[in-house]
Amino acid sequence: MLKAVPGTNDIFAQAREYPFREPVFRYITQTAEEVLRGAGAQMIHTPIFEYLEVLQKGVGLTSDIVVKKEMYVLEDRGGRVLGLRPEPTASIVRAYNEHGMKVWSQPVRLFTWGPIFRAERQQKGRYKQFHQVDYEALGLADPLLDAEAIALMVRIYKTLGLKNLEVKLGSVGDPEDRLRYNEYLRELFRPHAEKLSEDSRVRLEANPMRILDSKSEIDQQIVADLQVKPMLAFLGEASRAFHEKVCYYLERLGISFSVDPSIVRGLDYYVRTAWEVHHAQIGAKSALGGGGRYDGLSEMLGGPRVPGVGFGIGIERVAIALEQEGIAIPPDPSPTLYLAPLDEPAQIEALALAESLRPKVSVEIGYTPKSPRKALEDALKKGACYVGFLGEGERARGVITLKHLESGEQKELEPLQLHSLFEGPDPK
Ligand code: AMP
Repeated sequence: MLKAVPGTNDIFAQAREYPFREPVFRYITQTAEEVLRGAGAQMIHTPIFEYLEVLQKGVGLTSDIVVKKEMYVLEDRGGRVLGLRPEPTASIVRAYNEHGMKVWSQPVRLFTWGPIFRAERQQKGRYKQFHQVDYEALGLADPLLDAEAIALMVRIYKTLGLKNLEVKLGSVGDPEDRLRYNEYLRELFRPHAEKLSEDSRVRLEANPMRILDSKSEIDQQIVADLQVKPMLAFLGEASRAFHEKVCYYLERLGISFSVDPSIVRGLDYYVRTAWEVHHAQIGAKSALGGGGRYDGLSEMLGGPRVPGVGFGIGIERVAIALEQEGIAIPPDPSPTLYLAPLDEPAQIEALALAESLRPKVSVEIGYTPKSPRKALEDALKKGACYVGFLGEGERARGVITLKHLESGEQKELEPLQLHSLFEGPDPK
């Protein structure tokens, strides 16, 4: 029997692991959608694959995603090289440019949710195909938008019921601040290059800030021993003022956060604001989501200068956090009526009746003919409110036998009477 690729998951109601139960998944995406629509953001769906160039430029040539070959790359029949998206921001900015959204009233605020692909080593909370809710505010370089994005992200988590949240805010400065910081880091790390992990030795020349968020313990020890000054200490006047504005706005909004100088977002195009939201209970893979400002991305994609800020929320991670906090997800509603055919001609009668009632009320049918006792058992298992029997006797009298499962009350109703029973609010 063929199986799914490890690190990919089927999402369905009865899935054994909590993060892959469809009602949990839906609870998260619907809540996020309500919060974001309620704030005036519009939904966008972009393709899950793009020309590789869009995605590579989007994440940056020195990012782990490119360096460690975490992108799924494919070739179409015309020999064009495509990639599966490792994050949605580049696609959304590409769409903004392609559809001339720059002439709309700014900012343009868009959100999406869907699958993301990264060829990472599989472990709990880290998958090859996972899902993100993503929000982007494009076209206005105002710290108010950064604060709003953080507020919306936090509100999504809180609306879901999560409590143990930590918002960590940093700034990666402007490109010129980063040049100065990278020079400082190179000088600091060069004498220790031999001891750094292989990845970090490459990072040392290409993008030394990456060493700071290396997952290698040896690298982390070197970083700690060297007492590396944070990026925040290298901010220029403009990026410092911007950072302070974001902090001030968050305080005004009553959002608790800590300034964490170690926040270095793994993607190349981030400038200024960068943040992560962590959950105290989910251990090492504690990031529930992250976000930041990326004012240079559009130009990298060959478009005009379009400032932007946005975030990505890891849906599976959020599900793990919900499980940890013991937050119960409303179960799927059970049918109001379960219609059971007792003989063969009643099969299509049951389906026709179900279809005529369905706009008003949720109806399931029993499909194969069965005894009234078995039909009753099935209706109870489904959690239905009523069971309706259709058999030879009912056909002869032109009625349906309807039983209310909780009271046990049973009566025969003509189809019209049945329709009027379900005319008002759902009797469930
Ligand atoms: P990133 O785009 O790397 O900042 O990721 C944003 C969020 O997506 C993270 O904070 C995680 O919650 C989630 N995430 C990232 N990579 C994975 C993965 N491989 N599997 C599951 N969730 C992930």
